[in-house]
Amino acid sequence: MSEATALEDRLPFDAELERLGRALLSHPEPLCRECRGRVLGRRGHGLTNPERALLLARRLTLDPPEPTADRPCVICGGLFDALERWAVRCEEASGPWEFRTFRCGSRWDPERLAREEALWLTLGSPWGESARVAFNRELGKLLERRWGKPGDQEPAELVLLSDLPSGRVELTVAPLFVEGRYRKLDRSLPQTRWPCRRCRGRGCDACQGTGKTYPTSVEELLGGPLLRLAEGSGHAFHGMGREDIDARMLGTGRPFVLEISRPHRRSVDLERAAEAVAEGAKGRVELVRWDFTTGDRVERLKEARPEKTYRIEVRPAVPEAKVKEALPLVTLRPLEQRTPLRVQHRRADKVRQRWVREVRWVSCTDDSFTLELRTEAGTYVKEFVDGDQGRTHPSLSELLGQPLTVSALDVLAIHDEEN
Ligand SMILES: [Zn+2]
Ligand SMILES: [Zn+2]
Repeated sequence: MSEATALEDRLPFDAELERLGRALLSHPEPLCRECRGRVLGRRGHGLTNPERALLLARRLTLDPPEPTADRPCVICGGLFDALERWAVRCEEASGPWEFRTFRCGSRWDPERLAREEALWLTLGSPWGESARVAFNRELGKLLERRWGKPGDQEPAELVLLSDLPSGRVELTVAPLFVEGRYRKLDRSLPQTRWPCRRCRGRGCDACQGTGKTYPTSVEELLGGPLLRLAEGSGHAFHGMGREDIDARMLGTGRPFVLEISRPHRRSVDLERAAEAVAEGAKGRVELVRWDFTTGDRVERLKEARPEKTYRIEVRPAVPEAKVKEALPLVTLRPLEQRTPLRVQHRRADKVRQRWVREVRWVSCTDDSFTLELRTEAGTYVKEFVDGDQGRTHPSLSELLGQPLTVSALDVLAIHDEEN
């Protein structure tokens, strides 16, 4: 069987195709082979659009008008003959960026696309394929061959948008994601960058021009070194919840995802970055581990509702026997917690039910005692102790019949799936 015959087998003719073919080849306006073949682009398999045009012409022995320099293809205006030029533009645009996967998109003059749909209607073709889809695919194939990288991945690290009217290529660079766990040893450190309330980050006298309420944060101590090595434009920090600024995060640490926007480098040496973190964050934050991950992990992290174990130091001292007598009452029924006064400005005011799963006595000093408790996600621990002016019920203060406050709080464990 000759190759020509094999090709013909891929486009079986029937009366309908024959009729459409005649109408198409008799169309008075010039069409390039790509645009002509694309009118039946969704008919037949294993064929390129120019091959479809070729098979039509061969079968029907008609001589359609070919585009010339003066009369270019009415649909694409010669675009499909200029794919190489667009490939070069894509190469120039993507030059400074490291990426392993990409995808092509294009922005068209809407008039051209409308003209194409009008042609399908005139000819009565139910098999037309959009010029935009074909352009993206063909340019993608060309670049795949040039670069040896897959051009049809979702999500792609680099999206190359060819703006056809202007001749420019616009890039969308996917962020780089790293996932890990951190420990926080410093009781004066917020988890994320904390813009100055007065100037909202622009810099003012109150913040000595830094734009920040706190000089640094877990986010900056972990993200800074990574940002530098990835040569990105910024970082965003997603924690599985957050501890209070004055709380330490101990044990195996808290899960987080760090997002670096517009990274020029993706094959970052994470060990080297971790060394830089260890040096810059000494005594304040410890990186337990980190590794590359994907963006969908952010949502999973945000949805997690892990139980947590806390160690709290409570003032003043209360006799051990009295505390131990009250502790069993804590886990008998859920706490009723109305949104605490301290977070009222950013949370809806409502009453939540939260369980304290376990609570145990640890030790005491002359002016304090220490407990450990394991609670359901979303429990306000300080309010459980001091009662938040009656907004949390029952509270330890209520159970012991005297005012109490938390003088130190540590998160000992976050009981997520890994832990
Ligand atoms: Zn064309
Ligand atoms: Zn300020």
